[in-house]
Amino acid sequence: MDFSISSEQKAFRRSVSDFAKRELGGDMRAREKQGAFFWDGWHKCAEFGIQGMPMPSAFGGLELDTTTCLIAMQALGKECRDSGLLFSLNSHMWTCEIPVLEFGSEEQKQKYLPKMIEGKLVGGHAMTEPGAGSDAYSLRTTAKKVDGGYVLNGAKVFISNAPIADLLLVFATTNKELGWAGITGFLVDKDTPGMHISKPLEKIGLKTSPTGEISFEDCLVPDSAMLGREGQGSAIFNAEMEWERSCLFACHLGAMQRQLEECVEYAKDREQFGQSIGKFQSVSHKLADMRVRIELGELILHKVAWMKSRGKRAPLESAIAKLVVSESYMDSSVDALQVRGGYGFMSEYQADRDLLDAAGGKIYSGTSEIQRNIIARFLGL
Ligand SMILES: Cc1cc2nc3c(=O)[nH]c(=O)nc-3n(C[C@H](O)[C@H](O)[C@H](O)COP(=O)(O)OP(=O)(O)OC[C@H]3O[C@@H](n4cnc5c(N)ncnc54)[C@H](O)[C@@H]3O)c2cc1C
Repeated sequence: MDFSISSEQKAFRRSVSDFAKRELGGDMRAREKQGAFFWDGWHKCAEFGIQGMPMPSAFGGLELDTTTCLIAMQALGKECRDSGLLFSLNSHMWTCEIPVLEFGSEEQKQKYLPKMIEGKLVGGHAMTEPGAGSDAYSLRTTAKKVDGGYVLNGAKVFISNAPIADLLLVFATTNKELGWAGITGFLVDKDTPGMHISKPLEKIGLKTSPTGEISFEDCLVPDSAMLGREGQGSAIFNAEMEWERSCLFACHLGAMQRQLEECVEYAKDREQFGQSIGKFQSVSHKLADMRVRIELGELILHKVAWMKSRGKRAPLESAIAKLVVSESYMDSSVDALQVRGGYGFMSEYQADRDLLDAAGGKIYSGTSEIQRNIIARFLGL
């Protein structure tokens, strides 16, 4: 395994960092207070090519390998404080665009991918239900075959991007008796009669990423809306989770790098008892631990990218990556606050955003407990 990154990858990382510093700032606190989605940032990302990074050039994408995508997401996580925008980008890319690319028909790819890459269509995916969270495959939304299509009935919760989405990948069961093998994915356009999307839910974090509920009441979708084959939904879901559990969490790694740089600077400048606080071992060890977490997170994320670049599946490695990075981000967020003392508790330093983003990261894409269950399953338990 080669851990070096090429000069092209380094140059691309630099250009993503410069782009994020230049274009993805603005009044983040104001957007957060209003729960406003950063549309301008979204469109600028599309112009830069972010939404098209992993997509073939035939559809207008940049056709970058997984490692380069990962490096770019890490750079965005470091330089862009609008974590809600980044979260929405991640949902769009890994849980809607990628499934269309990997499982879609030629017609579906032509219909959706160019517009998703251009930022003209926003995507999301809808698996979780009021009674089916961690136990996702116990979902109750039904898709009943009728002449010319399927009729969806049921409800979804906590769906990222739903209030702004043009396209939702909806999972439903076409045969409840088959359990996970009866789950099927459907591409449902907004404004399809019978699909109702709520207003954005109020959340404690990621406030600039709109999250909603969806209900389906006799919602008729054509046969051509099915993604992949009947019963292929769980395979689609597993594949997209591998992408999300690596690329989304690369943004967290970037945020951890930013935290560390800021804390090192603070620890050098801030003096108590006649010396900089960085000279106190209890402070410097916190910073050393933050550095170690970044290194370990990077290693496992790059391993997942390396496997995916070679067309290998990485269900175990992506579960480990998600667990390690999400828990590390929480630990580092707590340390970063503590290192700054009372100043860390003041809004100016925005430690609350890191803490709450980190808390969310331990829940979505499968909770920490579920990642441990997956890892234990690979031990035969
Ligand atoms: C910000 C955010 C964005 C989200 N975006 C989306 C989205 O776009 N699309 C989508 O479909 N879903 C989305 N979700 C939903 C998310 O995937 C679920 O919240 C998550 O899978 C947990 O399900 P739950 O909330 O029902 O919790 P539950 O499953 O009820 O879990 C509650 C607690 O019990 C624990 N638990 C449950 N089962 C077990 C077990 N077998 N072993 C050990 N512990 C267990 C959990 O770990 C957790 O601590 C999002 C959630 C959040 C917070």
